[in-house]
This record gives sequence, C-alpha cells and structure tokens, in this order.
Amino acid sequence: MSTTRPSSEPYDVIIVGGRPAGATLAMRLGRHGMRVLIVDRANFPSAPPVSVPFLMNSAMSLLDELEVPESEYAHDAPRLRHFFVEYKDYFRAHCTIAEVGGRDYIYTVDRARLDGCLWNHLSRFDSVTRLEGAHVNALERDASGRISGIKVRLEDGTEQVIAGRCVVGADGRYSLVAREAGARVTEQRTDVDTSSLYAYWSGYAPYDAEPTGIQIHTAGDGFSLIVMPTTEGRAGVVFQGRSDRFLVTGDAQAYYLEGLRRYPAIWRRLAHATQVSSIRGIKRIGNLYRQAGGPGWVLVGDAFHQKDTIDAQGIYDALLESKLLAAALVDWKQGAVSWEEAIARYEREALSATRAMFHATLDRVKREIYTELPPWAARSVLRWMMTDGEYMRRFSLLLARRIAPEGWAPPNVLLGALARGITNDLRRLVPGARG
Ligand SMILES: Cc1cc2nc3c(=O)[nH]c(=O)nc-3n(C[C@H](O)[C@H](O)[C@H](O)COP(=O)(O)OP(=O)(O)OC[C@H]3O[C@@H](n4cnc5c(N)ncnc54)[C@H](O)[C@@H]3O)c2cc1C
Repeated sequence: MSTTRPSSEPYDVIIVGGRPAGATLAMRLGRHGMRVLIVDRANFPSAPPVSVPFLMNSAMSLLDELEVPESEYAHDAPRLRHFFVEYKDYFRAHCTIAEVGGRDYIYTVDRARLDGCLWNHLSRFDSVTRLEGAHVNALERDASGRISGIKVRLEDGTEQVIAGRCVVGADGRYSLVAREAGARVTEQRTDVDTSSLYAYWSGYAPYDAEPTGIQIHTAGDGFSLIVMPTTEGRAGVVFQGRSDRFLVTGDAQAYYLEGLRRYPAIWRRLAHATQVSSIRGIKRIGNLYRQAGGPGWVLVGDAFHQKDTIDAQGIYDALLESKLLAAALVDWKQGAVSWEEAIARYEREALSATRAMFHATLDRVKREIYTELPPWAARSVLRWMMTDGEYMRRFSLLLARRIAPEGWAPPNVLLGALARGITNDLRRLVPGARG
C-alpha cells in the first residue's frame, strides 16, 4: 500500500490514472523533480482494465528508457517471435516479429503484473506521491474557469479537494477528466468498430506450426480469433468480431464458447484445455481522438486517443504520448513555454506520431474483418499477398512502428507480391517449370 495523505501545497501536476500512460508520465516528470500527485481508484496490483495485451518490443524500448527491467514485467511469459495468420482453411501466412532495440520478440504480458510493476517503480522518485484506492469524482476550477485541482474520495470514505497547477487525464477510454473538462471529440470513426470477449486457458494443445507461435484465425465472416501464449503456461484466447454481428444478448460465457467451437482450427487446441479465468470483454471499441487539452488540463493515453486492438498499439501509443507530454510539461514548468504553447505542441506531436497508424489499423479492420471476399479472391489475390515474404516483412515493420504507416505497402510491393504468387502457383501447376 503506497497511499500517503496528499499535501495541501498545490502540486505541479496531478495525474488521474496510474497505468501505462499515467505511471510513465509520472516517472518522466519525477526525473525532473516536478512535484507530482498520481491518483488511481485501483489498489495495485489490481485486475487490469479490459485488455489481453501483446506488449510490443517498441513499447519495451520506451520502458527501457525508464529503467523498468524486462524481467519484472515479463515474468515467465514466453518470447513470441512468430505469428501466423490463417484465413479460413484457405491458407496460412507466417510473419516474423521485426526487431526493435535488439529485441526480436514480443510478449503477451500479464497486465496486472505490468501495471503493478510500473506503480512500484514510482517509489524511485522522491517528488512523486502515489495515492491508490482513491476515486476522483470531479475537477475543481478557479475563478477564471481554469482547472485547478481534483475532488477525490479516499479509501477511508472521506472526500478531499487537492490543488494542482494542472490535471492530466490518464484515466483511460471512459475518462472522467475528459468529461469534466468538456474535451471535444476531434476525430472519430464509427464505421468499423469491433467487440471482443476473451479468457485465459491452460492445458491447450501447442500450435502445429510453432509451439509458441501466435495463432490468428481470420474466419472470413466478420469474426477473428487469437491464441496468445502468456505467463504460467496459459494462453489468452480472444474472440472478436464486427460489432453489428457480435450480438451478445444473454449469457456472454455461452456466446464465447459457442464462438470458439464454431472454428475447428481454434477449438481443436482447446477441446481438452481448461478455461482458467472468467471471460471479460468490450462492446464497440472506440476509435477516436479527443481534444488534447485546455486551460489547466490535458489528456494522455486512451483518454486522448483510442483505437481498435487488432494491431496491438495501445500501450506503445500511451507510452509514447506520455513521453511527448512530459517534455512539454517540463518546458512549461521551467517557463520556456506558456501552458497554451506546451499543450499545442504536445497535441501536434502526438497526432503526428499516431494518426497515420490509427488510420492504417482501421483500414486493416475494414479489409480483414468487415470485407467478405469471394472465395476465389481470398484463395488467390489475398493469399498471394499475405504469403509473400516481402509483404509480410513490411507488415511486421509497420507493427513495430519502423516504417511510415502511410506507405507501408506501396504499389510496387503489392504488384511484386502478386507476381511472385502467380509465378509460384504456376510452378506448382506445371512441374518442372522454371521461374
Ligand atoms: C480487448 C482489448 C485488448 C487490447 N489489447 C491490446 C494489446 O494487445 N496491446 C496493446 O498495446 N494494447 C491493447 N489494448 C489497449 C490497452 O489496454 C490500452 O491502450 C492501455 O491500457 C491504455 O493505457 P492508459 O494508461 O491510457 O489507460 P488504462 O490502462 O485504461 O488506465 C486508466 C487508469 O485510470 C484509472 N481511473 C479511471 N478513472 C478514474 C477515476 N475517476 N479516479 C481514479 N482513477 C481512475 C483506472 O483505474 C485505470 O487504472 C487492448 C484494449 C482492449 C480493450
């Protein structure tokens, strides 16, 4: 328990939310000696928000910058170096994880462990005060209307007003700070939202292509399933689909199991396995940006920007945005820039770092989950592309954020993939033919 009685002296920064975005922001500000109060209603380690996450190596590089050791958050999770995308029973494509910062692997991380580890690391910073089990109910304003603090209900049930020169909403997709501050939604896509359910399993059969490979099964009917090996010999098994077809009206557990059973490629691995957690899930994952900030307030992580989970970029984006925000807040505190300049710069940089990927992700959801290809097209054009080494290499670089999302699959790569696919098929059809 790290709850301390907050000070009556205004903090430089009050952060609401103590997981990837909030905790890493507090660490970066703590390095500069800024007086920070970080508040979370959870007690750590706690059940995480809905998320069964891949932790990308790009995100691990940002944790390295904060000297958070990999062994602490990874625990015994296997290093995942390959994923396999199956499209119905038509074909299977292989992809190798692109290297980032010397790591050629990612993890399916245990979120309770990761978040608890970040929270614990805050104790390294003398100027950072942690307050857990504390629910922020409202924002305070000064006479000019500028946000000047928070009203919080502490664990003992008492309410307290705490003053800060600014308040950061790192409080996730349903952000109270965004609501209370009146943050506008600046961009939103509602045409391709998905819903998902997941649970953890043990005793599952290894994947036939590679025992710790990630299996992604695209069912071609608006649904997809993922088997993600994780800690303690378990796997997270996700069932997701386009929201207009993912209609859980009654028993979600029954709906989940019925979904898994429908797809033999997945069910054959689970038929003798045990589901070791209850199911969790989310309806209609939001795809949006909010206004980054205003007088005395600013948003970071999912509170600022949330998107479909298909490309597993949420934690990386949260860590990256917190890095950009920390730099802006340090400059503001040191008087190098005004509050308005700091927030405008942060918003500009955060949009420039994430927006193209946001659209690349949603275009992929549209292509792979919302579009039903006729069998001939899936068996030919799609197969030629997805089983092409160069196409998949670039896709892997995209997920690693090592190439610009706008041009990750330019026409020459697509045409090359088609040409190689056709050539390979012809070779198979005409034994002895030379390429
Ligand atoms: C189904 C699903 C799968 C996902 N899979 C992946 C994946 O594979 N890889 C990946 O990188 N990302 C994934 N994500 C996204 C990832 O979970 C988020 O991007 C990430 O958690 C955002 O971190 P955050 O710190 O912004 O917010 P959160 O992790 O949501 O943390 C917000 C914190 O704020 C606290 N809080 C909220 N309101 C208050 C309040 N009023 N008072 C006090 N505290 C408050 C909460 O208790 C919480 O601790 C997935 C998300 C979902 C829904």
